[in-house]
Amino acid sequence: MDKILISACLMGDPVRYDGRAKTSANPHLARWQAQGRLIPHCPEVAGGLPTPRLPAEIETGAISGQVLTGKARIYDSAGADVTRAFLEGAKATLAIALANGCRHAVLTDGSPSCGTSFIYAGHFDGRRTAGMGVTAALLQSHGIRVWNDTQIDELAALLDRK
Ligand code: SF4
Repeated sequence: MDKILISACLMGDPVRYDGRAKTSANPHLARWQAQGRLIPHCPEVAGGLPTPRLPAEIETGAISGQVLTGKARIYDSAGADVTRAFLEGAKATLAIALANGCRHAVLTDGSPSCGTSFIYAGHFDGRRTAGMGVTAALLQSHGIRVWNDTQIDELAALLDRK
């Protein structure tokens, strides 16, 4: 049975920048958890960042692919360059996903690491832009299909058809 990498905060781990979780109540997660399929993981903690931590956003106008290739940066709300920790976390997450044979990842949308459909636009004022976080983009570029937390039913339907 395929393993699924999942953002740790969706599984109730209080690892978000504000020290809280973003627990999902989707019943498929409890089922997959009971089946031993889920690999909960937080890229930002894996990258060495503390919890809680300041919020961070990819610089305005940039996309995650540019961060991954060294052409753009990620800054926290105090202006510190935290790119290195985000890249380390993305690489560690990819290694865990590959080691566990994960072909799918369920990730928290909006995060500069885990976002799959949108991220925040670098202004720290709530403005959003279409795009992915750096971990999501790295996983996708290695053939791991990424789903956000509103697409769990869709993933379940796909896996249950197999
Ligand atoms: Fe959750 Fe991902 Fe942020 Fe970690 S990096 S707190 S797993 S959204």
